[in-house]
Formats: sequence, C-alpha cells, structure tokens
Amino acid sequence: MEDCIFCKIVKGDIPAAKVYENKDTVAFLDIAPANKGHCLIVTRDHFETLLDIPDEKLGLLMEAAKKVTRALSLSVGNGAYNILMNNGEVAGQVVKHAHLHVIPRFKKDLLRLKWINRKYETGEIHEFAAKIKKFL
Ligand code: 5GP
Ligand code: ZN
Repeated sequence: MEDCIFCKIVKGDIPAAKVYENKDTVAFLDIAPANKGHCLIVTRDHFETLLDIPDEKLGLLMEAAKKVTRALSLSVGNGAYNILMNNGEVAGQVVKHAHLHVIPRFKKDLLRLKWINRKYETGEIHEFAAKIKKFL
C-alpha cells in the first residue's frame, strides 16, 4: 500500500522508534501515546482489519504483542496494560493497516476506557446469541 503510513514505517521509509521486529511483524512506539511507552504492533504485510489477517499471521502478531508487552511491563510498566484493536472507522480506526495497541497502565493515569453498560430486554440476549451462532 503506497500511501499507508505503517507500511512506510515497516519499510523504513519514514522514521519510527522501533522496539522489535522479526520476519513477519514490527513493533514501534505510538507517536501520540495514551501513556508513555504505548506500542503498536503490526504485520509487515498490509491488512486492513483483524478479519483480513490470515490466521497464521494473526498468531505471529499476537506472539510479537506478548513479547513486547512483557518487555514493556519489565521496563516502563508495572504489570498492568490494555491491549486494544480498533477495527473500522466507526470503531475509531484511523490508520488502515491493522495494528494492536499495547498501553501500559499506571495507578493514577488519566486514561479512561470505561463504557456505559446497557441492558438486554427479556430474552434478547438469546436472540443475539442465536444470530451470531448462525455464522459460526
Ligand atoms: P487507530 O486509531 O488507527 O487505532 O490508531 C492509530 C495510532 O497510530 C494512533 O494512536 C496514532 O497516534 C498512531 N500514529 C499515527 N501516525 C503515526 C506515525 O506516523 N508514527 C507513529 N509512531 N504512530 C502514528
Ligand atoms: Zn500498510
């Protein structure tokens, strides 16, 4: 993808603070972090969302994320972290090269990832389960 910023980072065409790379994945610091140390993990190949990533590459992406998370916890973090993935514009995905966010958490940080809990009508939860199961 010629105009993809993460493809450019992967290829080294634009600079990034890379912390880890192997044959299939690259990890680098987010330029506008939610907390300092916030890392992004990407596949070298361009895939837009989770569902576009072939299973074997997804496994490798998660392995790299785990490695980086461990290093992050041992360095700047304290063993608490969020791993997030925004998929699709409505879900907040800005860069259309699938990526995992690994964000170290601290007791008094200002990050808020809470949502308002909604309620199902009677029986509705089972209707949702049935709808989903049809596609599995
Ligand atoms: P998204 O909202 O797509 O899940 O997150 C994209 C992330 O990429 C954002 O947190 C943003 O700060 C980060 N980002 C965008 N452009 C660059 C860049 O050029 N370099 C780096 N290191 N991070 C970037
Ligand atoms: Zn890309």
